[in-house]
Parts: sequence; structure tokens; C-alpha cells
Amino acid sequence: MKLFDAIAGLFGKGSIMSDKSSPAPSSQTGQPAPAQPAADAWILPEKHREQLAKLFESLVNPVNIHLFTRPGPSDPVGEFAVSFCRDLSRLSDKIILHREELGAQEARTQGVDFSPTLLLEPQRYSIRYLGAPLAEEGRSFIETILMISLRDSGLSKESRELLSVLDSGRLIKVFVSPTCPYCPSQVLNAFRAAVERPKLIEAWCVDISQARELAELHGVSSVPHTVINDQLTMMGLEPEQRFVAELATLRDAASLSATLRRRPGETSQADVVILGAGPAGLTAGIYAGRAGLKAVILEKNVLGGQVSLTPVVENYPGFSKIAGVALMDVTAAQARRYCEIVNEEPVAYEAGPAGLTVKTATLEIRARALLIATGATWKKLDVPGESEFFGHGVNYCATCDGYLYKGRAVAVVGGGNTALTDALYLKNLGVSVTVIHRRDRFRAEQYLQDSVARENIPLVMQAQVEAIVGDKAVKAVRVKESKTGKSREIAVDGVFVAIGETANTEPALALGCELTAGGDIKVDEGMRTTIPRVYAAGDVTGGGGTRQIVTAVGQGAVAAMSIFEDLSREKK
Ligand SMILES: Cc1cc2nc3c(=O)[nH]c(=O)nc-3n(C[C@H](O)[C@H](O)[C@H](O)COP(=O)(O)OP(=O)(O)OC[C@H]3O[C@@H](n4cnc5c(N)ncnc54)[C@H](O)[C@@H]3O)c2cc1C
Repeated sequence: MKLFDAIAGLFGKGSIMSDKSSPAPSSQTGQPAPAQPAADAWILPEKHREQLAKLFESLVNPVNIHLFTRPGPSDPVGEFAVSFCRDLSRLSDKIILHREELGAQEARTQGVDFSPTLLLEPQRYSIRYLGAPLAEEGRSFIETILMISLRDSGLSKESRELLSVLDSGRLIKVFVSPTCPYCPSQVLNAFRAAVERPKLIEAWCVDISQARELAELHGVSSVPHTVINDQLTMMGLEPEQRFVAELATLRDAASLSATLRRRPGETSQADVVILGAGPAGLTAGIYAGRAGLKAVILEKNVLGGQVSLTPVVENYPGFSKIAGVALMDVTAAQARRYCEIVNEEPVAYEAGPAGLTVKTATLEIRARALLIATGATWKKLDVPGESEFFGHGVNYCATCDGYLYKGRAVAVVGGGNTALTDALYLKNLGVSVTVIHRRDRFRAEQYLQDSVARENIPLVMQAQVEAIVGDKAVKAVRVKESKTGKSREIAVDGVFVAIGETANTEPALALGCELTAGGDIKVDEGMRTTIPRVYAAGDVTGGGGTRQIVTAVGQGAVAAMSIFEDLSREKK
């Protein structure tokens, strides 16, 4: 996917930049630069201008955006940033754009030497984007404008308390890619903190597809990747409170978790606690709420589950084509009308005669029923080098980390739909891809196999990965060929592992639920597990043999109705 296509997915909805007259910021793609639009032409399509103008009606204080670009015509990404910000400033008189040049006095004063760099309300806050806020980061950019204008970080009470005692400075750099759906939430964690304690906290969002040198300097090889004071590194998206705790203490989650677990928590009551805000959990929340049950969804990561990582969904009824993150945005918004969604990780589960208890770092919830909708995660190869190089060449999410390998070579390991989709996606990004599969044929659907053949993607069939080798980063993958029994190394800069999924059964095991021979949670036709009042739905049960969004959604609804029936019977 070219950068222009990524911009077309601004806000992850695949459409905000679909106006064909818009410029492609081609310095990143190696293509010749197209003509820039006339100074007064809009690059935001009309539909989005209307939506944004409505959103900006809630702005209270002015937001000054200082945009630094290189002088001259050789900066198409900078020009894109100018057009984008100019459009926003034309939609609200509260958004004021100041154009600055690199090398000028203001750039020196602000320590800016990269084009484009955006500073938001620099008189008051230290918030900057290195690189235009493309695609997914469009979301964090708009949210940050709102946050700054309202002078409200939107942090929880607990996070504010933690930051109120901070007495030394922090510089947070969040490295992102335009297609990473997790990244905007991590950027917002950092920017919220910078709004909360403006004198002490500075936060940057660094686009690795644009600010490559800085990303390399920090050894970034998966996103989001967060560095605080060049001292503490976080890999992945962190729930807000954990992020803030690590930021405040400069200690990592592992060393903090013991302390957090001992904190006395607030206790609340619910009819049902739902673990996981993927399609199954969100649907169950909607059905439970509509049945009059008090439901609380606990999500330890990003809302939307695996679907938030899916670039495009084409088989969900009602939408011929929709970005995964957009589908989950509307589902989560609908679920919020019927139940509470709490972004915290459960740390303990108990089932007793009096009911069920789930604890997070700050909450204790007593419930009459528990629904496990924790989905599934990528299977590991379990070969030497895999954990050692995780985040340094070993990846599991092509959508998130593909950009890092543009112009470089990777191996995709696997033979199913995900592996071939990843291979095609990476090839399209300009990555040199080889698919390695242990069997002589693929499990993937025929149309994907045909596309891989059409794209001339090299295949290494009947080859078992033995090891991932390198020094500081991955250098090669070692495979053993079944036919000859011989091992050989294939030189690559990265490996994408796409060999299937394992059900997230940790809560089920903690509660004593039985599993199937395949390692999924065993359920009856009403999604009841083998432990009374504990239910399961979605991929964690095997997803009815298909592991699809529709099956997860269907099972979530069935589980909620079973819970309603069982609890109603109990009342009598
Ligand atoms: C790359 C990719 C592309 C796909 N494309 C499609 C497609 O085009 N069409 C289709 O129908 N399906 C597709 N799928 C499959 C589909 O995404 C899944 O079947 C579906 O998301 C399953 O929903 P779920 O709610 O059961 O689980 P998940 O989506 O996995 O959600 C589970 C949620 O639970 C959370 N969680 C885990 N453990 C805990 C815990 N202990 N406490 C709290 N929360 C927890 C997770 O963070 C996650 O958010 C795709 C999957 C992938 C990976």
C-alpha cells in the first residue's frame, strides 16, 4: 500500500482522503511528485468536512498549530500536512495554523529540525508530531485538538492522582505507523499525560515511515513502541492506568504489577461481567443490557479485538467492505449504550457459592455470571530465536509492523488465509516477501493462492522453520526441507509468523472450566461452560469451527440470552 492509500484510510475508515484530486506525499514512495492542488482546493472530501465542522462546534479555546516544513517544492509530505491543517483551520476559527520554515528562528527556538513537524498549542503544551498525522494517526490528531481546546486531558481520576505527585520531567516518544490500529490509543495516553502536567511532560508522536532515522536510532522494529526519557521502553499499547503508572515511576509493568495488585480496590456489583471487548463480548454486552441485565465489559487491550487489526472486512453482512476498526468503532459505540466498558486487565477470578468475583488493579466486581469472550492470539513457532528477536525482527501483525520492512526482505511463515493475506499486504507495501510453509499445499482460500501466484511471491514449501537467527536483529530464518532433510538459511530482515491461533483460556483455567481436545473452552449449545454461571463465546470456544466475526457475534448473543434465562430462573 502506498502512502497515499494510507492517507485514504485517515481515521481508519478508509475514506477521508478518497478525493482523487488530493496529492500523494510521494517522497516516501519513490514515485514522481504529482502536482499540488490549488491553494484554495480542499483535500478533505465534503462528507468529512461536514462531520469535522460539526465536531469542531464543541471547541472552546483556540488551538494554535505550528507546522514546520522544509522550504521549497521538494517536500510533498510537508505540503500534504499544510493542506490538511489548512483544511482543518478553514472548518473552525478556533483552529489557527501558523506556517514555519525549518532553519528559521522559531524552528531553532522550538528545537525542530524535521519536516514536517507539528506543534500543538506550544505556548501551553509540549505536544509534537514528527511526520504528518497520516491514516490512523488522523484520529489521535483530531482528538488531541479537542482535548487541548477543552483544556481537559480526559484521564481517569486514578491516573490524575498518580500524575499529581510527579516532580521531575518526562519526554515520551511514541513510535507509530500509519496503518497501526493500536497506535493512536498509545499516542493519546502520552498526549493526555502532557495535557495533564504540561510543565513536566513532553510527548511526541513519531511516524516511523517518515522519521526513519530516529526510529532506527531507538531500535524500533514493532509499533507502537514507546520510549520515556530514553530510559524506559514499552512495547505495544498499554491500558491508560498502567501507562501512567509506568510513566510516573519509570518502572516497567512487570515490576509494578505486584504493587498494583495489592492496592485495595473499589467494589461494585453487576449481573454479568464480560471479559473481552471483541465482537463476541461487545455483542453480549448489547444483548445483556437490552435484556435488563447490568453488564460490565472488561477489556485489557484495545476495543474491538482482532477485528481492529483487520484492514478490510468484506464478509460481515450489511457492509460490502468496511475497515475492521470502523466496524468495531460502531459496535463499541452501540455497546456503550447498554453496558459499561472498562479498559482494565483482570488480575484475579474467583467462583464461589455466593457468586463470581473479578479483580483488576483498581476494581473488584462481584457478579452473578461471567462470560469469557477473550478470543484468541497468534500461535508461536516455538523455535530458537523467536522470543529473543520478538520486536527486533519477529512480528505477528503485518498491518502494524509491515511499514518497517519497506524495501527490505521478510519471510511469512504459514499456509492459511492470514499468512497469504499478510504476504500480499507486505508485497503491496514494497516489501520483498517469501512464504515458508511446512506442507506441500496451502489451507488458504483459492483466490488468495491465485493472487500470491499472480504476484510471483516466492514460496518455500515443505520446509519447517528450525530457528530464527541474527545478532542484534534478525538476519535469516533457518529451515529444514522435508524432502531432502537438509537445513538451509534464507536471508531476511524480518519474520512474520502467521500459523494460526491459540484460545485465550487463562480465566477459564483459573476458574476450572474444561477445555476441548483442541484447547478451546468446552461449551454446550447455550454457551455454558462446565462451571455453573460461567459462559464462553467467540474464538475462545473455537468459534463454531470457523473463527469468524459473524460466529463470534452469534455466540455472544446466544451466551447473553442463556445468562438472562439462567439468572431469571434463579430469581424465582
Ligand atoms: C488479521 C485477521 C483478519 C481477519 N479477517 C476476518 C474477516 O475478514 N472476516 C471475519 O469474519 N473474521 C476475520 N478474522 C477473524 C475475526 O477477527 C475473529 O473471529 C473475531 O475477532 C473473534 O471475536 P472474539 O470476540 O471471539 O475475539 P477477539 O476479537 O480476539 O477479541 C477478544 C478480546 O478479548 C480481550 N482479552 C483477552 N484476554 C482478556 C482478559 N483476560 N481480560 C480481558 N480482556 C481480554 C482481547 O484483548 C480482545 O480484545 C480475522 C482475524 C485476523 C487476526
